[in-house]
Amino acid sequence: MQNSDIIWDNVDRHREAFIGLSDRVFDTPETLYGEFRSVAEHRAMLAEQGFRITDDAAGIPTAVLGEAGDEGPVIAILGEFDALPGLSQAPGVAEHQPLEHGGNGHGCGHNLLGSAAMLAATAVKDWLAASGVKARVRYYGCPAEEGGAAKTFMVRDGLFDDVDVAISWHPATYTSVSRATSLANTRIDFTFHGKAAHAAGAPELGRSALDAVELMNVGINYMREHMPDEARVHYAYLDAGGAAPNVVQHKATTICARASMSG
Ligand SMILES: [Zn+2]
Repeated sequence: MQNSDIIWDNVDRHREAFIGLSDRVFDTPETLYGEFRSVAEHRAMLAEQGFRITDDAAGIPTAVLGEAGDEGPVIAILGEFDALPGLSQAPGVAEHQPLEHGGNGHGCGHNLLGSAAMLAATAVKDWLAASGVKARVRYYGCPAEEGGAAKTFMVRDGLFDDVDVAISWHPATYTSVSRATSLANTRIDFTFHGKAAHAAGAPELGRSALDAVELMNVGINYMREHMPDEARVHYAYLDAGGAAPNVVQHKATTICARASMSG
């Protein structure tokens, strides 16, 4: 039997357990360093499979590592388990059907990403133990992939210094080896503070924070003409200052996310 067949057998043997993990993470969609239930599920599975566990990796409470094997090269398999805001969705339905209006959901499939990455690590772990091959396999439970850049802090903390190869995947509607690269990115939240006033009764007393946010975005749109091709700037309003148009908004917040090949 070829090694790859043995590893696929290992995958099949653990199949139901890891589908269960994926389903449980789907049912508890959490975002941006708040993935406490999801990481607890991942940690429990690492323990069940006999990995040595590092909690609070890089000082991040929702990051976890699991390692097996004693010596030899380090194979890193990277998983993620964060959800996206506003994508609450009933499982097994191919049309928009939120379980909770405005709630989180796993539209990007990270419930699968984390579970199947750990399944791969488990299958390799079992093979290493059975074959006697000297190597270590390490599962990286990485939170906050959607805008939180947790892996950046994990790299900065040296968690990848001894890694020989790092492998990851992402759920899609087809199976292939992807050669796609992505842009480095950084995010800044800008909050503007103005002065509240009745917009009809005393508009001259108000200073609108919402106006400030809009002016900033207009400026960025003019800046786009002068940016290199590879660079991108995205934005979203985190807080438009309220829903009442007859109140001058005293506070408003926008995200500005900048991405470029040069970092
Ligand atoms: Zn994703």
